[in-house]
Amino acid sequence: MTKHFVPDNLPSHLQHYIGGKFVDSLGGETFEVLDPVTNTAYATAAAGQKADVDAAVAAARDAFVNGPWPRMKPRERAKVLYAIADAVVAQEDRLAEMETFDTGLPITQARGQAQRAAENFRFFADLIVAQHDTALKVPGSQLNYVNRKPIGVAGLITPWNTPFMLESWKLAPSIASGCTVVLKPAEFTPLSASLWAEIFEQAGLPEGVFNLVNGMGEDAGDALVKHPDVPLISFTGESSTGQLIFRNCAENLKGMSMELGGKSPAIVFADADLDAAIDSTLFGVFSLNGERCTAGSRILVQRDIYDTFVERYAARAKTIVVGDPHDPKTQVGALVHPEHYDKVMSYVEIGKSEGRLVAGGGRPENLPEGQEKGSYVAPTVFADVAPDARIFQEEIFGPVVGITPFDTDEEALALANNTKYGLAAYVWTNDLKRAHNFAQSVEAGMVWLNSHNVRDLRSPFGGVKASGLGHEGGYRSIDFYTDQQAVHITL
Ligand code: NAD
Repeated sequence: MTKHFVPDNLPSHLQHYIGGKFVDSLGGETFEVLDPVTNTAYATAAAGQKADVDAAVAAARDAFVNGPWPRMKPRERAKVLYAIADAVVAQEDRLAEMETFDTGLPITQARGQAQRAAENFRFFADLIVAQHDTALKVPGSQLNYVNRKPIGVAGLITPWNTPFMLESWKLAPSIASGCTVVLKPAEFTPLSASLWAEIFEQAGLPEGVFNLVNGMGEDAGDALVKHPDVPLISFTGESSTGQLIFRNCAENLKGMSMELGGKSPAIVFADADLDAAIDSTLFGVFSLNGERCTAGSRILVQRDIYDTFVERYAARAKTIVVGDPHDPKTQVGALVHPEHYDKVMSYVEIGKSEGRLVAGGGRPENLPEGQEKGSYVAPTVFADVAPDARIFQEEIFGPVVGITPFDTDEEALALANNTKYGLAAYVWTNDLKRAHNFAQSVEAGMVWLNSHNVRDLRSPFGGVKASGLGHEGGYRSIDFYTDQQAVHITL
């Protein structure tokens, strides 16, 4: 008998969705999809090859050139986007169960994902209705105006952490802008993406606007990146994959948006509200199983409070409940896949010679019955981590954090900036001037001052250095998916 939760009506096979139809790969290729608590295959998925991507791009291109979607009035498109949001919310419970089952995310954290995804659709629906573009008059001589046009078929390539929500972050603005799309979801977690087809059909999105090709990055993802009829790629994933895609996009001079990896610092000054800083820095690296691009995975603490901080932080980390992702008491579930588990565990071992282990350091004890082979890692904390340590420099993307002391503001800034990444930074201090000065000097695309990682969909989202290229959010996303043609008229 199964000892772990399995969603009702779990599909045993996942297909592509091309031109309004569920289809298998033309050559019949498939791959196995594992659940992370037993690491056994629960389904097969169609493994897209170049021919399947060609078919999906052809369907999307046909819907772009001949279909109604790019030519519909913003208000009409917005009505469909609102209907999509409602259809997403209607799937809230099922989506949470699917995400938990497929990714190992704790169910209490998976529950918010549908609302966030729905909000992405409502937000971009509102934005396109309110959108206006500039007209510039040169008196007596010329009138110049902006003619905004959707670019065409958008290629969307997404990672396995909070997969459905991150897919919505690309689907909502691209579709709102009037583009048609081909989505290539992550191969570790294709389950929730299978919900999109039904959601879009129900909401009345015209056939061919949304297309989905499952499969490996090197096959399906690569074919999408190299396809000449796909003028832009929106990618979220590892920095090294981003570099490869960047090179491949260059061939066709494609537009690119890249949301990449991170090794974000959380800086805690001695004058900070220590209770709030400890709560938030625990949340920052142990929520979402630590599989969070903006995780505050390097905590820099001012020497005056360093020992107290380390002691209190480690004590709290030890109380985090690791276990069955479907149990509402669980705070850290199973990591997504055995390959990723091996990577995280290798850093846990490296950390033992690079820092002082103060919590975790391996598999947790007392794993749920039947889940002894699951990809579980105890929340792990290393203190006294030197800036040249690999666990200080490299993205681990799991429930592992390093703590490093500093003395002065200058030293804190130098340590914060001492990585190739620049996604997020978190600063804890009650000195307003210091907080703002630090925010302006730190090399990070996003900074939270005395704050959790909360999102405002209007503000820029993205990283600097190896963490990304381009910023999305608000009208920046619409700009990315549209051409702004300048039309000049002589008066
Ligand atoms: P990944 O780079 O391994 O894969 C991401 C996607 O790219 C997958 O769909 C994969 O199949 C595809 N892919 C792989 N090789 C490809 C190729 N040659 N051509 C085209 N597509 C290819 O990343 P991952 O392990 O799925 O995700 C974790 C990473 O994503 C972490 O580094 C994390 O920081 C990053 N991430 C960044 C953000 C952000 O907003 N900055 C958000 C979430 C995750």
